[in-house]
Amino acid sequence: MASLTLRAITKKFGRIPALAGVDLHVADGEFCVLLGPSGCGKSTLLNIVAGLIPQDHGTVMLDGESVDQLPPRSRDVAMVFQSYALYPHMTVAQNLGFGLRMRRTPRQTIQKQVLEAASLLGIEGLLDRKPRELSGGQRQRVAMGRALVRRPRIFLLDEPLSNLDARLRASVRLELKELHRQIGSTIIFVTHDQVEAMTLGDSVVVMREGTIHQNGPPEKIYSHPADTFVATFIGSPEMNLYQGRLVQKAGNSHFEGSGFSLPLTGLKSGLPTGEADLGVRPEDIGINGSDTTGLEGCVEMISDVGSEKYIHARMGQERITVRVPKDFVCRVGDVVPLVIDPHRVHLFRKGLSLDVY
Ligand code: ATP
Repeated sequence: MASLTLRAITKKFGRIPALAGVDLHVADGEFCVLLGPSGCGKSTLLNIVAGLIPQDHGTVMLDGESVDQLPPRSRDVAMVFQSYALYPHMTVAQNLGFGLRMRRTPRQTIQKQVLEAASLLGIEGLLDRKPRELSGGQRQRVAMGRALVRRPRIFLLDEPLSNLDARLRASVRLELKELHRQIGSTIIFVTHDQVEAMTLGDSVVVMREGTIHQNGPPEKIYSHPADTFVATFIGSPEMNLYQGRLVQKAGNSHFEGSGFSLPLTGLKSGLPTGEADLGVRPEDIGINGSDTTGLEGCVEMISDVGSEKYIHARMGQERITVRVPKDFVCRVGDVVPLVIDPHRVHLFRKGLSLDVY
């Protein structure tokens, strides 16, 4: 196991900048998830750590020592890809032991490590099968096992669950979390799926266009997004976000949006007035009769997802999405009171979070 430190990593492919100065520290034993939209540079970063692609500038360090001069083999990292490419003519046991055989590991050690990995992953009963005789989830486990038997310093997992159907994905995700608890290895896991990131990561690194926007525990990323990109990228349905102005009225801050005004009573005094964005998550909006803010929404659409409902309404000139319990009754055209607790809102200026509390 090892810690990973990246210092000012940059990479261009021709004129396309893939990474623009990435700094990152992943502690020994940490499960770190790189999350971001397609093309933001996640896989490139993983490949640079593995030594499969050279960076243009910057340093990759394992346990504080640069590995920039080391070829992939000597870095002792194991990578698992989205397409797990098992050798079709080999049995599961042979697939698991392949990397060790290549390293001329003694036969008995291979056997022991293969059995250990298989038992950790619950695939002891599959060792004599060929990959075509396995389900998608089982193949994925073999691919993980192939990395596990090598006992690398770091696991690099590039969207390893994305070939699985939604149900299987959810169960393999739980297994992976449990596996990490047992082996305590350092894992860097790439995904563009926010649910995967939030459920798996000790830390989530949100990336966009080759830069890191925020790095922190999932709950912090969700409750204190550093900027409007993170605020709207994390959370489903996404955070409601409005352009407007912060003004002072009778000693209190107010947010003036398009056709609505929200008193921000109780927030720290002296909020800087002027242009701002206000964000509020769908679950942080009350929709009952005890409204004190005078906001109203005219219901335009209702999405019922079974466990809860989402009401899409018009508030002033803006649209707003509100999460309500599954048994909440309303109809399109109804006008409902909206209660927004000032302590639940997020304020941004020039895209960056204002420290409001
Ligand atoms: P995805 O989630 O779709 O896999 P990603 O976040 O992993 O995306 P990368 O694959 O790292 O993104 O790509 C980052 C940028 O670099 C993209 O603009 C991509 O088109 C570009 N890129 C990646 N590899 C190459 C390459 N070999 N040649 C040219 N451009 C590349």
